[in-house]
Amino acid sequence: MKLDFYIFRQKIMRKCLECGKELSGRIDKKFCDSTCRSSFNNKKRFELNQKVKRINKILKRNFSLLDKAYSENKKEISISSLLSHGFQFNYFTSTLKNPYKLICYNYIYTISNKGVIFIEKLSDY
Ligand SMILES: [Zn+2]
Repeated sequence: MKLDFYIFRQKIMRKCLECGKELSGRIDKKFCDSTCRSSFNNKKRFELNQKVKRINKILKRNFSLLDKAYSENKKEISISSLLSHGFQFNYFTSTLKNPYKLICYNYIYTISNKGVIFIEKLSDY
């Protein structure tokens, strides 16, 4: 009995992640060359840095508003006043539980149901 073996070669189209050219060679190859790899990684790093910069800018503004209020001895400030100066409540650096408090770097604040926040400060660094 004769067995025939057929090998089916399935050609999988792979393209360079940077320029889109068809790739040949190793199955795990993602780029044409090191120029494409560098260009792709630089773009990725740039986009990541832009996202971090945007978030840092918001946190810096929040910190600055808390710092200004605290420095002026206002340990209690209205939420509407903070919002009017661009404070963004959904950005903070950490939280505490029981009681629930928000942290922005070295300021801890509690949102009351009276439309104000109470500011505490951790030690200066
Ligand atoms: Zn390429």
